[in-house]
Amino acid sequence: MELFDLHGKVAIVTGGNGGIGLGIARGLAQAGADIAVAARNPDKTRMAVEQLGGLGVRAVGVHVDVTDATQIQKMVADSVDALGGVDILVANAGMSIRKRPETYSIDEWSTVVTTNLTGVFACCHAVYPQLKARGGGKIVTIGSMTSIFGLDMGAPYAATKGGVVQLTRSLASAWARDNIQVNCILPGWIDTELTQGARRAMPRLDESVVDRTPQKRWGRPEDLAGAALFYCAAASDFVTGTSLAVDGGFSSSMF
Ligand code: NDP
Repeated sequence: MELFDLHGKVAIVTGGNGGIGLGIARGLAQAGADIAVAARNPDKTRMAVEQLGGLGVRAVGVHVDVTDATQIQKMVADSVDALGGVDILVANAGMSIRKRPETYSIDEWSTVVTTNLTGVFACCHAVYPQLKARGGGKIVTIGSMTSIFGLDMGAPYAATKGGVVQLTRSLASAWARDNIQVNCILPGWIDTELTQGARRAMPRLDESVVDRTPQKRWGRPEDLAGAALFYCAAASDFVTGTSLAVDGGFSSSMF
């Protein structure tokens, strides 16, 4: 058995058209997986698909808004039609609205929860019959340092990311008998469109992240590829319900 070989496997990566999702998709493609890039922005998706196709695997774009369960069902059906099945789901799509807790409207709260928590559950729920039919599979969810720490400017975000860890454990426990492993990656501060927005909103963020991170740098999307490959490959066949921080030491260090 090849521990880190994904040839013959198909992965759906939500939010795979940029940032962390594309970093992970590239890592899985380099290991041989065919990729369905699932997101909303068609231009970004087209560019990601071109990039992944250049790595010598089959790559397709499928439209999805993860706040819509019907679109998620279609995302899975389109991926199966295009690539012949699904073995791996990376439930990565996510967003934040940055403000103090007392200033959120309930609609803003719901947007974050529907995208980051309900959206992850709905993707796992929709892909489960496919994985079961294949005799097993892998699901990777994406938490955050806010799965562990509180965030004054992101109460709903932190609530969803804490929830993703517990959802991961629950799905892992329920679907172990189906040979489906479910694990979570907890990224530290990674340089993406999401955090570029945060940097603009918080001018001192750049230097505080570097200062607070023992490895003294921001993470890059490709830093997530190794952990994701481990969780998506045979190497992790007896690993389920776990969370792995990819954070340059952030969560291990008081300062
Ligand atoms: P980006 O903003 O760069 O990417 C977010 C991705 O999610 C895009 O591909 C976007 O595509 C997609 N997306 C967002 N909303 C939806 C939606 N409703 N339906 C479908 N797709 C959607 O962010 P990151 O790469 O930084 O974040 C990726 C994940 O990593 C998120 O879950 C985030 O919370 C998490 N994370 C990020 C950290 C960081 O430091 N960057 C740290 C910890 C966790 P499109 O707009 O085309 O739909």
